[in-house]
Amino acid sequence: MTQTPNGASVAPLIEILEVIWDRHRQDRSGEVATYIPELAKANPEWFGICIATVDGAVYGVGDSDQAFTIQSISKPFAYGMALEHRGPKAMRARVSVEPSGEAFNSISLEQGTGRPLNPMINAGAIAVSSMVRTSLGDSAFDKMLAWFGTFAGRTLSIDDAVYRSESATGHRNRAIAHLLRNFGVVADPVEAGLDLYFRQCSILVNCRDLAILGATLANRGTNPSTGKRALAPDHVDDVLSVMTTCGMYNYAGQWLHEVGLPAKSGVAGGILAVLPGRMGIGVFSPRLDAQGNSVRGIGVCKELSDRFRLHLFDAPRSGRAAVRSQSTLARRQSTRVRPESDAARLRDIGAASHILELQGDLGFATMEVIQRRTCACASRADAVVFDISRVDSADETAAEFFGTLVSHLVGSGKRVVFAGLPPKNPLCRHIVSRCTPTAIYPSLDAALEACEESLLSGLPISAATHDSSCGPIPLSRLDVAQGLDAAALAKLQGYLRQEHFPAGQCLFKKGDGAQHIYFLTGGTVSVRLYTGPSTFQRLATFLAGSVFGEMAVVDRGRRSSDIWAETDVTCLTLSLDDYDRLGAEHPGIKFRLLEYLIRILSSRLRKANEQIAALSG
Ligand code: GLN
Repeated sequence: MTQTPNGASVAPLIEILEVIWDRHRQDRSGEVATYIPELAKANPEWFGICIATVDGAVYGVGDSDQAFTIQSISKPFAYGMALEHRGPKAMRARVSVEPSGEAFNSISLEQGTGRPLNPMINAGAIAVSSMVRTSLGDSAFDKMLAWFGTFAGRTLSIDDAVYRSESATGHRNRAIAHLLRNFGVVADPVEAGLDLYFRQCSILVNCRDLAILGATLANRGTNPSTGKRALAPDHVDDVLSVMTTCGMYNYAGQWLHEVGLPAKSGVAGGILAVLPGRMGIGVFSPRLDAQGNSVRGIGVCKELSDRFRLHLFDAPRSGRAAVRSQSTLARRQSTRVRPESDAARLRDIGAASHILELQGDLGFATMEVIQRRTCACASRADAVVFDISRVDSADETAAEFFGTLVSHLVGSGKRVVFAGLPPKNPLCRHIVSRCTPTAIYPSLDAALEACEESLLSGLPISAATHDSSCGPIPLSRLDVAQGLDAAALAKLQGYLRQEHFPAGQCLFKKGDGAQHIYFLTGGTVSVRLYTGPSTFQRLATFLAGSVFGEMAVVDRGRRSSDIWAETDVTCLTLSLDDYDRLGAEHPGIKFRLLEYLIRILSSRLRKANEQIAALSG
C-alpha cells in the first residue's frame, strides 16, 4: 500500500481506480449537455469514480465529492417509489417495460394504448412522476427527496437553478406530458406531475451517492451503511430489470454486451451501474456522446467490468463454498475432555455421525450443493449435524429446500441435529415444522457434546445427560491407575489429597504459578479464556475421570487459562513437592504416572491437530 501525504495508507483498490481514472482522463471527446442552459456551466474536466460494496465499503477517486444533478438516474428510483405506492399492476397498466431502442427524449408510446414503452425514457418517467404526484399530492416532492435520502443514507437537496432552468425550457417534456394526458396516462393537473419530474431530475448528488444508491439496489433494497430498508426486494428486481433492458436508452443492447450491468445514465454526466449482490458503481464526467451518455463514464464501466469480470452472466460459482467443512464425530469432538476409555470409544463409534459446517447465503444454488454433499455421506451416517452458525441468510426457497432435505433424512432413519440456529430464522420454522423432534443447539460445541453423550449412553440425543450422582470415582477406577497394582495404588493414594470445590468457584487463574495436578473424581470443571472482564470462551470441559492442570506441572510454567467448577467438584490433587518426593521415593510409580501424563498430552495434541485439520478442510 502507498501512503497519503498525512501518512495514512491507501487501499490497493484505490490505487487501481486511480490508474483507471488517469487513463480515461485523457479522453476529451463528447460535449457537455446544453439543452438545459444551466447544465452548460459544468466544468467538462470534472471526473470522479466511486465503488460502494454491499457490506458498506466505499472507494472514491478524482472528483467523487463534486455535486451534480442526478437527472435521468432519478428515474429507476422514482419508479421504485411508484411501485411501492401504486403496486406493480397499476404501474404496468400505464407504463410498459419494453426497450424502446430510441433516444431518451423520444416520444415512444405504445400504439393504441398510448402507454410509454418503459419508465427509463422521459415519457415513461413523466408518467411515473405524475402517478406519484397524484398519490401523494402537495407533499410528493418532500417525500420523494426523503425517499432518495434513504437510498443515499444522507439528506439530499436540489439545485434550484437547474430546476428553474429546465422548468423554463423543457418544452419537449411539456409536450410529452400533454400527449400522455391526451391518452389518459397522466391525470390533471399535468403541470404538477411535470413539476415533480423536473424537481426530481435536479436532486444534487455526487459520485459517492451514486455508488451508494447502486449498492442499496445491489443489497436488495437495504442501504449497506445505515441498514435502513429503502425498497422492498421484489421491487428491486423490477427496477434492476428495466435498468438492464432500458437504462442506457438506444445504447442498452450494446451496453449489456460490453459491460453487462444494470445501469442508468443522466445528462449531467453521471452513470450508475449495479452488480447485484456485490456493489454499486458511480462515475461522473459531464462530456456526453451522441446518445446522451457520459463518454468517460462508459469507458470506465467497460474497463471495470472487463478487468474485474463484473458482467452479470459471469456469475461466481458461490455454491461450492456453502459447505465450509465436513467431518465426523470420530475426527472432530466437543471441547469436553473425557476419560481416555470414552474418548477411544468415540473415535470408534463417532464415524457414523457426520458434521457439516455451512456458511454464507443459502439460496437454490447453495442448497443444491448442500443436499448433494449430505446425500453423499448419508448412506454411512446414523446422525447428521448441521452447523449453521455461519449462515448469513436463507431465503424462503432455501428454507423450504432445507425442510425437504431434513424430512428426507429423518424419513430414512437418520437423526438430524442443528447447531447455531437462531430461533427467529425462517429456516428454523421450516425445519421444526417438518421434523419434530429435531435437536437444536445454540453452538456446534453443545451439539457435538449432546451427540457424544448420546453415543456413549446409547440414549437418544436430547435425553442423554451426564450422570454425576454416583459419588466420587475411586482412584482405582481412574485411567491413571492402569498398570499399577493394589500396593502401588495404595502408595500413590498416600501422596494425594481429597479436595472439594463448590459450583462456581475458580480453582486457578491464568498466570498463577502451578501448584497441583488435579484428578477429577466428581463433577465437571471448565477451562475459560477471558476475552473481556465478564466475557469468556469455553475452551474445554473436563468430566469426572479426567485429569487437568498437568501441563504447568510438566513444564513448571504458569497456568495458561482459568479453571472453574461448573458443578460441585471433588478432586484428588497431587502437589508439585509431593510429585518430586514420589520420584525420589517410588521412581517406578512416578514413571507410570509420567507415562500416563504423556499419553494424555499426546492425545490432546492429536485432538487439537484434528480440529485444526477439520477447520481448514
Ligand atoms: N431532465 C432531463 C430531461 O428530461 C433528463 C434526461 C436525461 O438525463 N437523460 O431532459
